[in-house]
Amino acid sequence: MDSVWTPELIQQLGALWKQGLSTAEIGRRLGVTKNAVVGKAHRLLLDPRPSPLKRPPAPRVATAQGPACSWPEGHPGDKSFRFCGKRPLPGKPYCAEHAELAYVKPKEKSNAA
Ligand SMILES: [Zn+2]
Repeated sequence: MDSVWTPELIQQLGALWKQGLSTAEIGRRLGVTKNAVVGKAHRLLLDPRPSPLKRPPAPRVATAQGPACSWPEGHPGDKSFRFCGKRPLPGKPYCAEHAELAYVKPKEKSNAA
């Protein structure tokens, strides 16, 4: 099914793609269908290009709206560090899951020690 794609063809696809040719035009030049170009480019993970017909999706906004669980995840300073951000329990800074972790009963704590 993928046999049409010789290494040379794949190389040409990458080159034409970088030139910014349309998928239909690339297909014409390589002698394959536009769908084959789109599918192969997708599988090769070539940089997606903004389509003139569709607007690029809006960037995901990191700022949560309304109250958000402020339970820290990861280690402060790490790139992956973030706050939970789930909807917190009413009157609590944490979501149900993290409120349970935050407000451990003293009895459980002493048992663990
Ligand atoms: Zn949480």
